Amino acid sequence: MTGDSTRAVRAGLPVPEAYEPSLPGPVFAAHYHLPGDATGPYTYGRESNPTWTRLESAIGGLESPDEPAQTVTFASGMAAISAVLFSCLRSGDAVVLPNDGYQLLPAVRERLESYGIEVRTAPTPGDAQLDALDGARLLWIETPSNPGLDVCDIRRLAEAAHARGALVAVDNTLATPLGQRPLDLGADFSVASGTKALTGHGDVLLGYVATRDAALADSVRMWRKTVGAIPGPMEAWLAHRSLATLALRVRQQSAGALALAAALRERPEVTGLRHPGLPSDPAHEIAVRQMRDGRFGNVVSFTLPDRAHAERFLAALTLVDDATSFGSVRSTAERRGRWGGDAVPEGFIRFSVGVEEPADLIADVTAALDTACERPS
Ligand SMILES: *Cc1c(COP(=O)(O)O)cnc(C)c1O
Repeated sequence: MTGDSTRAVRAGLPVPEAYEPSLPGPVFAAHYHLPGDATGPYTYGRESNPTWTRLESAIGGLESPDEPAQTVTFASGMAAISAVLFSCLRSGDAVVLPNDGYQLLPAVRERLESYGIEVRTAPTPGDAQLDALDGARLLWIETPSNPGLDVCDIRRLAEAAHARGALVAVDNTLATPLGQRPLDLGADFSVASGTKALTGHGDVLLGYVATRDAALADSVRMWRKTVGAIPGPMEAWLAHRSLATLALRVRQQSAGALALAAALRERPEVTGLRHPGLPSDPAHEIAVRQMRDGRFGNVVSFTLPDRAHAERFLAALTLVDDATSFGSVRSTAERRGRWGGDAVPEGFIRFSVGVEEPADLIADVTAALDTACERPS
């Protein structure tokens, strides 16, 4: 059994061949030579691509190192999420969603309901989704949740859902497969936006679905082919290339996020500080049990006294870009309330820690907090 970093650098690589690159470049093809019957691994570019195959094998190996899993990659995280929901659910089915998850879930809910699917919601903390499971076809979990960083017990929820005949999907975006393995914890699907920490450079949109169930994988793949939400070969290749440094990035980012969170605890103007790695965090106990090797993600969230205070803070940062998304090698932060989609206070900051030296980052944040405390004259 190899370690994560070792597995990540080799993930999905073909058997070495003389005079061939270790990771072959992206294959740009709308169609392939296809003599005779329309069978074979590569036929048409909306259905299959060797660059996806290698990436999918790599991600599958990280999400499920000990048991075979199939992975289907998508153009974005939302494409992957939609593929699971819309390929599994039919009119008359019930689905349980978190009410504090990714900001587009309410839009997804509206769409599902318009197709005659019953949507129930419950918050992530305290495993509150347990109470909504009776008669459900699918349970959707997001842990740690974005942007609130609440955590629920995947194993407990999955056992309860399976006992009632429901499938379980976990949004694994924030943790990455190195931080959490939902399939090992009993989930049927691990789904993620690869746009964030997985690819980690803020230059690629990508999504994936991993599952050990061949029939479920087929149905998700058929959905991709039907709606055409396919990743570009260049994006797939960049994502694969980025996996080699995933363990390094996650290690540096997790350590930086924990150090930043500890520094923020000392600031009287900071409230609602959340990071699952902080021993004082309400999510810490369960996070330690189900997340791996101290990799609690690179996001820290907290609240400053009001909107103007938060805007002064963001403007005063010099090493941190005011930008959305998270998981990049470069630190970013934003006032989440500017989007209007999350139930957060006006001064709520979602901070994504990059791979800078933690001491530099903390000095920059501390100076910006000091500046933000000075009342504008
Ligand atoms: C960003 C994000 C998504 C959506 O991913 P895209 O790649 O932007 O489509 C879904 N879930 C979570 C938790 C996210 O952070």
